[in-house]
Amino acid sequence: MADVVDVAARSRMMSGIKGKNTKPELFLRKALHARGFRYVLGGAKLPGKPDLIFPSRQTVVLVHGCFWHCHDCKYFKWPGSNQQFWKDKLEGNRARDQRVIRELKKLGWRVITVWECELKASSYTLPNKAVTRVLKHLASTPI
Ligand SMILES: [Zn+2]
Repeated sequence: MADVVDVAARSRMMSGIKGKNTKPELFLRKALHARGFRYVLGGAKLPGKPDLIFPSRQTVVLVHGCFWHCHDCKYFKWPGSNQQFWKDKLEGNRARDQRVIRELKKLGWRVITVWECELKASSYTLPNKAVTRVLKHLASTPI
């Protein structure tokens, strides 16, 4: 059975894996920075290495690509080939996401998940619903 996603598209998706500085992430970072919110980038010793960390607000933002994190949206499609491989891989990712969120919350962090499709919806322009949601959340969190 032919893969439902062509090779170029697959390789674009592959390049998105655990991607830092992906387009959705950069767009969100720029928007938050422009509003004066300062963050630390992932790599901190926190579960799941959250993309953006706001230490003084005890808040982390996870930016999730819809394919790699199995989002229930139009951008997610199960690959047509190597089905078992992808099932294990992507369901493993989803289970890990849930575990990471639980661990972060247990450590006292507020966790905001932002999906690639939410940022894409506005073609990476403002206003954007997801950006507004994150800004609201941060603004309501005391420093
Ligand atoms: Zn999505």
